[in-house]
Amino acid sequence: MYYTGIRKNDSKTAGHELKSLLVIFAVIFLVNTPTTYLENALYPYIFDKINVWASVFKQESELIGDYASLVNNDIVKQEFVDSDQVGHTNDLIAVILSSRREGFVESLQLLTLDEFHQVSSRLAAKVDLFFYNNTNLDHPFVSRLSQDQFSLYYPVLLHQDIAGYLAVGIDKSKFSYSTFKRVFYLSDGGVVTEGRTAYPLKENNWDEQLWIELDKATIYKDSGIIDYQNKLILFHKVPAVDGDGDAYLIYFISPTEKFLYYLPKILTFFVCILMVSTYIYYEFYKRSRRLEDKAHIDELSRLYNRAYYNKIKHKFVNTDYYLGILDIDHFKMVNDHYGHAVGDEVIRKVGSSLKEGIRHRDYAFRVGGEEFVIILKCDSYEHAKACFERLRENIAFINTKPAITASLGFTRMSYSADKAFKIADQQLYKAKDGGRDQSKGILI
Ligand code: GH3
Ligand code: MG
Ligand code: MG
Repeated sequence: MYYTGIRKNDSKTAGHELKSLLVIFAVIFLVNTPTTYLENALYPYIFDKINVWASVFKQESELIGDYASLVNNDIVKQEFVDSDQVGHTNDLIAVILSSRREGFVESLQLLTLDEFHQVSSRLAAKVDLFFYNNTNLDHPFVSRLSQDQFSLYYPVLLHQDIAGYLAVGIDKSKFSYSTFKRVFYLSDGGVVTEGRTAYPLKENNWDEQLWIELDKATIYKDSGIIDYQNKLILFHKVPAVDGDGDAYLIYFISPTEKFLYYLPKILTFFVCILMVSTYIYYEFYKRSRRLEDKAHIDELSRLYNRAYYNKIKHKFVNTDYYLGILDIDHFKMVNDHYGHAVGDEVIRKVGSSLKEGIRHRDYAFRVGGEEFVIILKCDSYEHAKACFERLRENIAFINTKPAITASLGFTRMSYSADKAFKIADQQLYKAKDGGRDQSKGILI
């Protein structure tokens, strides 16, 4: 990935890269598994809840519709034809209602025109809220008694004439069943029915703002979750029972459910932070390694330098390691005859040759002008000797002008690095004295 001197595969660096990658994968796996599990478990659970409420609500609304259709029933109509009294049908209705489970509809009553006028004048006097929908008595209308209670009036028509009304008394607060805690019905005008559970939002004007938020949220979907006044609210749009428009069933998500809802998001956030910091750490690590390597590399030969040799030499004090010093023969002459630039080129090529010639567990350093230290890991003196000789011989095959040779002295690094260096240097001198272009070694 980046140049680290003579070793071709830097296993230490590769290890760090692999480790960083493995950490990232492990973290993703560790977070992703419970997160996915939570999401899969939580969302259907919450949405199933609201779906049940919505269907109960729908049943209630349909029931009101069924009752309303009584006004078209021939038997009911017949009773208005036969007499001014509609008590017989009312008795029947009372029996039906009493057998019903708890629901929206509190009362159901057929009224003759006379009875209706008595009731309506009383209501009009008592309750300001009484009004006629469309101011048309031929159509169903609503009489609102309070936020929770209202009556729907359906006219009974006999030959285009109004013979009476069916009054359906509705109490929305009945909607909140004990099993449906924290569920509320919100209809137009910001009316919220509390039922048996205390409504959690108390601030002024909350309803109007909530209504706006819900309208925004339901532009694209009929149900979902909104965050309103620090409360998570699950909503489901339904047809209003107390008017023509829409209404909302809303459910206040509990603190535990809220925690579970946000947990995947929190976990994902931390994973991102972790991944970014891992990446930044890795980049810094890479950069510092690069700088460190630069400080350890000799510019000319691209081998490790003397400073690095001094730094790590003690690591090789072991009978498995052999130290060799290679010196170019008559290098002064190269400089003198061909110039310094050619001399530099020769040093560069010798550096490449040594780099090519060793294995990645071996090391090569340029420790002086045209002096190189080579550390080889070998299992025997003979093996080391053959390797050093091969490296030295390679020099003669380098395509340089002029052709050059080198001498080499080596020994085993049994005791101390400095001692091995001194002995190898003595061996190098022996090689020079012996006529150059040769290796000399000794086993200590
Ligand atoms: P010997 O066979 O005995 O080693 O003879 P030599 O001429 O190689 O002798 P010595 O090792 O003393 O010579 C070192 C020469 O290397 C001296 C100097 O001119 C040259 N030298 C040292 N560093 C550099 C360098 O970085 N570039 C160049 N071109 N020459 C260098
Ligand atoms: Mg020399
Ligand atoms: Mg020299």
